[in-house]
Amino acid sequence: MSIVRDNLMTRKGYTPYCGNEHCRLNMPRTRYISGQFQCGCGWRSSFEAEFITTYEAKWVDPAPQPREVGNE
Ligand SMILES: [Zn+2]
Repeated sequence: MSIVRDNLMTRKGYTPYCGNEHCRLNMPRTRYISGQFQCGCGWRSSFEAEFITTYEAKWVDPAPQPREVGNE
């Protein structure tokens, strides 16, 4: 299991950084949206469904975003 996946399964609220090396937002941490982790630049992660199912089962509320500052 990768470090990112390990963190996802053990650290509540953890999200990976954007994986777009040309991210116009300087590769911030992503947000969990509709079954994948998504960046404001449009990048989405590509975890397989099996992992996402396990992830969602682990965290009933998988998307706390206390660090997010924006205009939402
Ligand atoms: Zn991005």
